Amino acid sequence: MTDSLLDSLHSAVPELRLKTDAGDLEHYGRDWTRRWTPNPLAIALPGSVEEVQAVMRWASEHAVKVVPSGGRTGLSGGAVAANGELVLSLERLNKPLSFDRVDRTLTVQAGMPLEAVHNAAREEGLEYPVDFAARGSCSIGGNIATNAGGIRVIRYGNTREWIAGLKVVTADGELLDLNRALVKNSSGYDIRQLMIGSEGTLGIVVEATLRLTDPPPPTNVMLLALTSFEALMEVFAAFRERLQLEAFEFFTDIALKHVLAHGAVKPFDEVHPYYVVTEFATGDEAKEAAAMAAFEACMEAGWVADGVISQSDAQAQQLWRLREGITESLAPHVPYKNDVSVRISRMPAFLEETQKLLGEAYPQFEVVWFGHIGDGNLHINVLKPADMAQADFVRDCEQVTKLLAQALKAHEGSISAEHGIGLVKKNYLDSTRGPAEIALMRGIRQAMDPAGLLNPGKLFDA
Ligand SMILES: Cc1cc2nc3c(=O)[nH]c(=O)nc-3n(C[C@H](O)[C@H](O)[C@H](O)COP(=O)(O)OP(=O)(O)OC[C@H]3O[C@@H](n4cnc5c(N)ncnc54)[C@H](O)[C@@H]3O)c2cc1C
Repeated sequence: MTDSLLDSLHSAVPELRLKTDAGDLEHYGRDWTRRWTPNPLAIALPGSVEEVQAVMRWASEHAVKVVPSGGRTGLSGGAVAANGELVLSLERLNKPLSFDRVDRTLTVQAGMPLEAVHNAAREEGLEYPVDFAARGSCSIGGNIATNAGGIRVIRYGNTREWIAGLKVVTADGELLDLNRALVKNSSGYDIRQLMIGSEGTLGIVVEATLRLTDPPPPTNVMLLALTSFEALMEVFAAFRERLQLEAFEFFTDIALKHVLAHGAVKPFDEVHPYYVVTEFATGDEAKEAAAMAAFEACMEAGWVADGVISQSDAQAQQLWRLREGITESLAPHVPYKNDVSVRISRMPAFLEETQKLLGEAYPQFEVVWFGHIGDGNLHINVLKPADMAQADFVRDCEQVTKLLAQALKAHEGSISAEHGIGLVKKNYLDSTRGPAEIALMRGIRQAMDPAGLLNPGKLFDA
């Protein structure tokens, strides 16, 4: 069956690059979650938009399910192919296509890594400001499909804000040219925006036109040691009031322990329970004085016990590594990840409730907290004890996620702030979206992919 299907694909798209070795199936069939056993039919690596269209026409004709695949750095199982799907990797479509100085837009193929997008924008003297630690391996197409956030959302917003236009191949192989980079376009439904965050369930992004912005101002990076969890939102308010924040990120002593074990440089002699890395605009005396004023106010209030400010780019990078290295340092422990958000105004009450809940619920596990606190986004990673079976660990964690989902519902938050629902959180979608809204989402998916070919089982069961 597999052979005859692949023969027919080969006949339909003769130049298509296909991979079927066991190692490739394993490599392309999973993402960073590592929870599901990969089992794809094959890996298709189209070299042009026309080939993507031809693959989808073939998939439509033969009722073959397709998993769109970027860098597979996803943390929600969105790019997992565990049920005989064809993986459609955008990896070979990885080039910049055009830059428009008047429109200040950069058009790129969807498989281009985020870091390469940054570099291409900087070559033109401009900035693509969405940024996070997976920049070297995630793709812009994956960023769009998950509406990725990252460390600069507090200043620049999510991926959604930066997408001027998209080219998308539909389930039946049509090519949609969405919004064509127009600034104003009041001509009906904005399908471009619908595609953003759709997790590969509505179409395959093949090209994106990105808005660029001015290069960031000169900045300084400060690491703060906090005395208590309660101090966190106070320190955030004190800094936000006085400074133009580019980033405000939080992590705990347990997170620090893991990054240090991974080779980062120890910042303070003493251990403190909580830390913040913040980056803010500097460049003149007034801004530097404002930064010192914020720091001193927090010290006087007893919220901050210690601090260090970067004196060079190398030191700024060292401080950033303490935050950005966390996800990678935890990966060997196969963490169970929660990626939740509430409105910033709700954060103090939500933090208090969640800390109590997790303290009671997880006495037996190591729990690592970190996150983009300035966006109301918290990452709570529970680490699997080495001697515990994966299935037992996930079952225990899911019990707590149910409680967390209830707390989120009460605080009008989201069970997925920026990683997507994928497979990991689909049982909890109704904590964030109402029944009528989920019914509409189903209807949209049905309209755009009536045969249910695109990323089946992800986000919700069709
Ligand atoms: C160290 C580390 C740090 C991270 N930090 C952050 C962070 O700060 N903020 C954040 O938001 N995320 C973060 N992530 C998660 C991840 O990098 C993002 O979700 C990223 O956007 C995924 O991109 P990708 O190309 O790897 O997508 P993949 O993992 O390949 O796919 C993700 C989803 O998008 C779909 N998809 C991929 N390409 C396409 C396409 N061309 N068309 C349609 N659908 C497509 C897939 O089917 C899947 O559902 C981090 C991950 C790691 C490993």
